[in-house]
Amino acid sequence: MTNIYGMSRVDLENYFLASNEKKFKAIQVFEWLYEKKSQNIDEWSNIKKDLREKLKTDFSFDMPKIIRVEKDTLARKYLFELADTNFIEAVVMFHDYGTSLCVSSQVGCNMGCSFCESGRLKKVRNLETFEMVSQILQIEKDLNMRISSVVIMGIGEPLDNYDNVIRFIKIINDPKALAIGIRHITLSTSGLVPKIYDLMDLDLQINLAISLHAPNDEIRSKIMKVNKVYNISQLLTAIKDYIARTNRRVTIEYVMLKVVNDSKECAKELANLLHGLNIYVNLIPYNETNHLEYQKSSPESISEFCKVLKDNKINVTVRKEFGGKISAACGQLRSKEVKE
Ligand code: SAH
Ligand code: SF4
Repeated sequence: MTNIYGMSRVDLENYFLASNEKKFKAIQVFEWLYEKKSQNIDEWSNIKKDLREKLKTDFSFDMPKIIRVEKDTLARKYLFELADTNFIEAVVMFHDYGTSLCVSSQVGCNMGCSFCESGRLKKVRNLETFEMVSQILQIEKDLNMRISSVVIMGIGEPLDNYDNVIRFIKIINDPKALAIGIRHITLSTSGLVPKIYDLMDLDLQINLAISLHAPNDEIRSKIMKVNKVYNISQLLTAIKDYIARTNRRVTIEYVMLKVVNDSKECAKELANLLHGLNIYVNLIPYNETNHLEYQKSSPESISEFCKVLKDNKINVTVRKEFGGKISAACGQLRSKEVKE
């Protein structure tokens, strides 16, 4: 059965029109679902009884359940159980400028990056749109607080679940649903080039983040299998076209792995590669995991790397470390759960 939380406003309008109802019912339903956060249709007083009964038979209103929360001062990690007993996770981060939420887009991931837990677990399936929307809604309910920005950087490769992710973005951005500003939504991808072109055609004005993680094909192919399909040169062309088309600055993510990609030479090579582009580099301190042999770069290497980029006029920031204690790195909580 179709889940109501996977319906965009246009989907609902079409549903009502097809049922000989007025299209504005869609807005009323959105208000109950997202403003009042009511799952109890019987209290939807401005919708007449027979229509409420019809909604009940046409849609499922179930959401994935929160089954565990790990708390830290600046972060909170939620484990959800899906109807088919798979697990996914989402991490909330409390910043001084608002609350951001990192959501998952798939159960596992097929991209197989060698440093990543999610990749180690392999893709079981795509998440449905409602399963992504529910992560935000359930957490807003739990915290009794509005989420102000969303990053699609949890488990999964969002562009490998393209249609569901785009519908998700439309729903959460809708001012009558979760009203998350389009510029407060970030999609992170390992670099599925054709999908980056599809995305720029939509001209969505979201933030695009690219997991580059290496300054050359030799290193990138060692740690990211996807590079053997779409190499750095193809990816850079897509990034340039994306910037030209959308007029948006792109984020380049670079996870700092000891010895693997954190030398000053790598920094210099990266600076040359990115020279003159409307991008900024986000250096990510690696979250070590029990199963993988990679180590995090020392704080000294990170600051030296950062300095080389700055000296070469590349905008760069170092990502604040959140929730190391609560195993907030991609996939870690879920992998713990799967083992149990
Ligand atoms: N699949 C997408 C989005 C999810 S991963 C992507 O790869 O972009 C989100 C980010 O976390 C990516 O940049 C990824 O490389 C990084 N990442 C994965 N495992 C990590 C770890 N253990 N520590 C730090 N960053 C990690
Ligand atoms: Fe998948 Fe991203 Fe992890 Fe790579 S880094 S395995 S693309 S989740």
